[in-house]
Amino acid sequence: MQKNNVIFLLKELIQLGIHDSKILKAIQNIPREHFVEKSLKYKSYENVALPIKFGQFISQPYIVAKMTELLLLKPNSKVLEIGTGSGYQTAILSYLAQHIFSIERIKELQLQAKKKLKKLKLYNISIKYGDGNQGWSTEKPFDAIIITAASKKIPKKLIQQLHNKHGILVAPIGEKNKQFLTRIFRTGKTFKTETIEQVNFVQLIDGV
Ligand code: SAH
Repeated sequence: MQKNNVIFLLKELIQLGIHDSKILKAIQNIPREHFVEKSLKYKSYENVALPIKFGQFISQPYIVAKMTELLLLKPNSKVLEIGTGSGYQTAILSYLAQHIFSIERIKELQLQAKKKLKKLKLYNISIKYGDGNQGWSTEKPFDAIIITAASKKIPKKLIQQLHNKHGILVAPIGEKNKQFLTRIFRTGKTFKTETIEQVNFVQLIDGV
């Protein structure tokens, strides 16, 4: 692990308003370089999104930290992640919650992420290949749902799989080049929506 670079990144995240010590510790402990393409490893601890295969991206560390913070995770939280990608966000979540269920629609990415997470000995993660829009009905309800790809609307099935007393969903919502990080609190049939900040994600695709 490039120790000095991580410390520098942590300082930057704190400056950007990330203060949760558990999240900062997760970022310190999970080697982002393990999830980055070989030719870009020297950029692993820069606060930028980096391309992975198939036109997808490993998210910017600040966005990973911010989305994680917004989920208000507890050690016993059950989390659903849509868009495993490199598996980096999955690894960070696995440090803070009881179990992460993650869905990826590109088979090669799903397999690669699974291997990488196993290598880091993170065992509280289940990853499946499929269309995240359908959620993971056999494991519902989820205390928290995170979507790491952008859509105009939150897929209905995901809302339905959110815990009906205290469920929290975080996702980039909006058009192709203008999305806002959005948080939804579910209490029974009531949904409270909060808009956080503008972001830039790849699109959530319909189907596999
Ligand atoms: N959090 C990831 C970001 C991955 S980019 C990381 O830091 O690496 C978004 C991912 O969402 C891509 O891998 C893309 O293939 C996936 N994706 C897009 N639409 C999807 C869908 N309907 N179901 C599951 N995954 C999807």
